[in-house]
Amino acid sequence: MVSRVIPVEDFDLVIFGGTGDLARRKILPALFRRFQAGQMTPESRIVGAARSEMDSAGYRKDVRAALEEFLDKDRPKAEIDDFLERIDYVAVDATGDGGWDELSKLLRKGVTRAFYFSVAPSLFGALAERLHQHGCAGPKCRIVVEKPFGRDLHSARELNKTLRDHFSENQIYRIDHYLGKETVQNLMAVRFGNVLFEPLWNAHYVDHVQITVAESVGVDGRGAYYDKSGAMRDMVQNHLMQLLCLTAMEPPARFSPDAVRDEKLKVIRALEAVPPADIVRGQYVSKSKGESYLDQVEDPGSRTESFVAMKLQVSNWRWAGTPFYLRTGKRLKARHTEIAVIFKDAPHSIFGQSLGRHRNVLAIRLQPNEGMDLFVTIKEPGPGGMRLVDVPLDMTFADALGPDAADVPDAYERLIMDVIRGDQTLFMRGDEVEAAWAWTDPIIEGWEDTGDRPKTYEVDSTGPEEAAMLLHREGRRWREIAN
Ligand code: NAD
Repeated sequence: MVSRVIPVEDFDLVIFGGTGDLARRKILPALFRRFQAGQMTPESRIVGAARSEMDSAGYRKDVRAALEEFLDKDRPKAEIDDFLERIDYVAVDATGDGGWDELSKLLRKGVTRAFYFSVAPSLFGALAERLHQHGCAGPKCRIVVEKPFGRDLHSARELNKTLRDHFSENQIYRIDHYLGKETVQNLMAVRFGNVLFEPLWNAHYVDHVQITVAESVGVDGRGAYYDKSGAMRDMVQNHLMQLLCLTAMEPPARFSPDAVRDEKLKVIRALEAVPPADIVRGQYVSKSKGESYLDQVEDPGSRTESFVAMKLQVSNWRWAGTPFYLRTGKRLKARHTEIAVIFKDAPHSIFGQSLGRHRNVLAIRLQPNEGMDLFVTIKEPGPGGMRLVDVPLDMTFADALGPDAADVPDAYERLIMDVIRGDQTLFMRGDEVEAAWAWTDPIIEGWEDTGDRPKTYEVDSTGPEEAAMLLHREGRRWREIAN
């Protein structure tokens, strides 16, 4: 199979915070890969804009170093040279006047303009204001903003208001890079492009759903930031909530931004409040010196959670009675992200009970090795009578679609190109973000009120015992965390 690259229109993309960690690690490598794939027109330009005083030549040197550090393969020097020719730099102070006239002169008229706000959210208002003051922002330009989008409902509303004072909702692209993953979009293709799954995708046939985002890394150098956030704010309110929405939502009338986002919003609004007994938070501990969570943050008595597991109910006709179990944590035994739909037992076993319980499972893996497994029950081969075994139907994309299928764009590549194309389907709308915070806030406030400490769990484990109990008490168990 030959991959099809559809070139995007001519664009100018300004990266505010162009010298920062996110730009160097994700945004610039993603742009290079799309350039390499032939998706950027020869005229398209990228402008780095940040506080450091330097000229374009100095910035190109920095970008080259970032590409060499963060692109693992396939980076021929000639292509990098070519890419760098499309890059300029302007030293801009988001809160002052320096650099803005220069930036305004660099931007071309009549082409798509996008501004990536890869800076602290406290600068969003100042940036937006200056973009307008200096004639850089018109009704057709787009802005891209990163997580965290607020730390509670109040701050998210303020942030939305700040942005909407200057831009309309259809100009604002709130990134959640989980939505840019190939498999997440495949979840929609599998659900809505086949007759096979949708009739079974409900409480009559689905026993429960598990969504796991397990990280093997700890807070590392980000302890100061993470300790003010915790797993609930850093992962559940955004990434896990988005995965839950795509799994649970009703079929949208069409694959268009508002049709999809309307359905996702309805899922968040249908979530029941979570009783304390259905939620477990944890903090990692280690016997090795300096390896425990509390060694890696400033506050030695911190009660911030590095792990959360919970049972959720989506209160609507489709899902009444089918629990959704979510878990995420740091320093777990493997890096593993998946959505697993566990179907109910067959209504009657003609083989009798002695052959054990066999269930169909659709496991959608986001990382590592993006792909899907559909487990079906078959007869174990060989003599000796009827023995049942569950095997995965092989859905490795690379095998079915050829080697090009393994070379899919990463989430940032896809999402940045969607910004240029003006497609908001895979970006969070302001009301979605607010609804997710409205659901999250009471849980966090409850924790703050009780004063309880998170449960501890050993590093390289699967989380606290109590998280296993969430499922055991109902005769279920978590799927293996493995890569
Ligand atoms: P960083 O501290 O590495 O970089 C900040 C950038 O902002 C620098 O380029 C700096 O020059 C610029 N800047 C700071 N003050 C400025 C001012 N007054 N005027 C103009 N430019 C100014 O930060 P980062 O890690 O790149 O993160 C950027 C944003 O992206 C943050 O909001 C962060 O929360 C978010 N984010 C980062 C990551 C990541 O992996 N780094 C992941 C998700 C979200």
